[in-house]
Amino acid sequence: MDRLSSCDIIITGSGPAGLAAACLLAANELHVICVAGKAARKQADPRTVALMLPSIRLLHKIGIWPGELKVDTAALRKLRLIDDTGNILTAPTVTFGADEIGEDAFGWNIPVERLVECLQACAERLGVTFRHKDAAAFRARREQATVRLEDGSELTGRLVLAADGRESKMRATAGISALEWSYDQAAIATSFGHSAPHCGISTEFHKTAGPLTTVPMPGNKSSLVWMETPALVDRLMTLSDQDFAKRLQFEIHGKLGLVSEIGPRRSFPMRGLTATSFAKQRLFLIGEAAHVVPPIGAQGLNMSLRDAALAAELVSDAVAEEADPGSASVAEAYNVKRRRDVLPRQAMVHTLNASLLASLAPFHSLRALGLSTISQFGPLRERIIREGLAPQSDLPRIMRA
Ligand SMILES: Cc1cc2nc3c(=O)[nH]c(=O)nc-3n(C[C@H](O)[C@H](O)[C@H](O)COP(=O)(O)OP(=O)(O)OC[C@H]3O[C@@H](n4cnc5c(N)ncnc54)[C@H](O)[C@@H]3O)c2cc1C
Repeated sequence: MDRLSSCDIIITGSGPAGLAAACLLAANELHVICVAGKAARKQADPRTVALMLPSIRLLHKIGIWPGELKVDTAALRKLRLIDDTGNILTAPTVTFGADEIGEDAFGWNIPVERLVECLQACAERLGVTFRHKDAAAFRARREQATVRLEDGSELTGRLVLAADGRESKMRATAGISALEWSYDQAAIATSFGHSAPHCGISTEFHKTAGPLTTVPMPGNKSSLVWMETPALVDRLMTLSDQDFAKRLQFEIHGKLGLVSEIGPRRSFPMRGLTATSFAKQRLFLIGEAAHVVPPIGAQGLNMSLRDAALAAELVSDAVAEEADPGSASVAEAYNVKRRRDVLPRQAMVHTLNASLLASLAPFHSLRALGLSTISQFGPLRERIIREGLAPQSDLPRIMRA
């Protein structure tokens, strides 16, 4: 077998979702080729991702947590929601503590670039073969999946895991359509220093154009995801660091003291996407190739890592039973289980976002009433905390406590 063009599993895309899947499969002694995409496409990424306990367990099992990765991260001990809409009916501030479910932390906030570096190094150690080219097309024929690269050469395997992002070429050439929509919002991602400690609290300020979220980083530093109208985001992106810091300090009502040291900023248009199917014979969609949500409630990559974990579990189980991992029945099991997790979460994120944007009073009243009920009713709080971390059923084995 030519290890550069023929393997067990082909993974397209080397973002966090694709690399996590590559590590999991290679750890199970499968030969994996990762079509990493052209290096030129990669842009500097100032984002951090809040990864919840089940995702952290996955990083632990593949051997990159705690290790060097943990050094650059901060624990998320409390999540606080503040109604900052200024409406007549204001919801009470709700704070969820990890101690309410007997944990020290809900998860950790990790710089995306550092996460990708550590996953990449792990995949290389585990013997994953990397091809630094773009994947152009997918084809399935009997027992075999084929990926054509941009230079016309072909790779073959038993199955393709497509983790090539929201514009996925694999999804399109496999003939899977996607429902796509956009929000009249964009988000600025950056980091900042502050004079007061964050005490491990991540705060979502719910404003009329979307949430502004601060997430703890090591020391007196936090990361920021600020969703606003695209016009205001454009203006905020042109402010000097000093003016941006002043504006941010005002928007968060001085809760973190004096704001300074603004990091590199990058803006992201806010879009949603759901593939009409997450799998077909010899192809599974992973991460943003399957689903995209706005950054509310830290759902995006946590869902994507569950895609990677379930895909690896189903493939490894099939191989262990000497069955075909690319069969229609394995694909259907993946599709059904992942949609059961992803679709309700996308709906929840969409509804929360829409309830802020809606100019109709009934929506604000409903949100205020909902948050008020949650803040007072213990069993409901606990259920919401546990479901926010991960689904209580169907969690891939590797992510279970
Ligand atoms: C501002 C912001 C904040 C966020 N915060 C959080 C958070 O706190 N918690 C959370 O869980 N999620 C968060 N998310 C979501 C999270 O960042 C994404 O879900 C995640 O980065 C997507 O990873 P991915 O691997 O699916 O896709 P990507 O990171 O987009 O990776 C796709 C990869 O495929 C490659 N590629 C593309 N086309 C090809 C091709 N033809 N051939 C080969 N390779 C190709 C690309 O180069 C890229 O490397 C946030 C998102 C935003 C925008």
